[in-house]
Amino acid sequence: LLDIEQLRATIRTVPDFPKPGIQFRDITTLLADPAALHGSVALLAEHARASGATVIAGMEARGFIFGAAVAIEAGMGFVPIRKPGKLPVETIGVDYQLEYGTDRLEVDPDAIAQGAKVALVDDLIATGGTALAAAELVRKAGGEVAAALFVVDLPDLGGAARLRDSNIEVHTLLAFE
Ligand code: IMP
Repeated sequence: LLDIEQLRATIRTVPDFPKPGIQFRDITTLLADPAALHGSVALLAEHARASGATVIAGMEARGFIFGAAVAIEAGMGFVPIRKPGKLPVETIGVDYQLEYGTDRLEVDPDAIAQGAKVALVDDLIATGGTALAAAELVRKAGGEVAAALFVVDLPDLGGAARLRDSNIEVHTLLAFE
């Protein structure tokens, strides 16, 4: 079984990225560690199964890495939630606020079956803006959000609390205060 303190030790903290004052939690070093990679994916897959999810959706780009691995581990399919302009078909989209300006997530409407129970997966939750937009997108496409799963939580930024306030089941493997 994976020791969470060992998992925490595989995450690198990069000061002043992407701008001064931000402590960037970098999972590149976790991905390079076979035990941490398989252990974190196995724990997220356990939460996905327990949530009753029938399919995994991951947010571009680091959510593709963990999400696809969790889908395989849990024996489920995978839905890519993409940045704008990447998909070759007419998409369903949701615009959301960033600190400065707006961003957008898109999905292929054929990728989510009507009534599918979707577990969202990303590497990290900060303010929760990305995950709330992804949840709205899943519902717009006809799915239900079974859970939202993250390797890392930054609780000071309040994202997990925001998701729980909107009745989304949230699981994170470790937190950085
Ligand atoms: P949120 O929308 O504020 O919750 O930010 C979460 C999104 O930004 C996720 O897709 C993360 O990959 C990314 N992100 C924000 N802060 C960090 C960080 O410190 N390390 C890695 N990714 C981050």
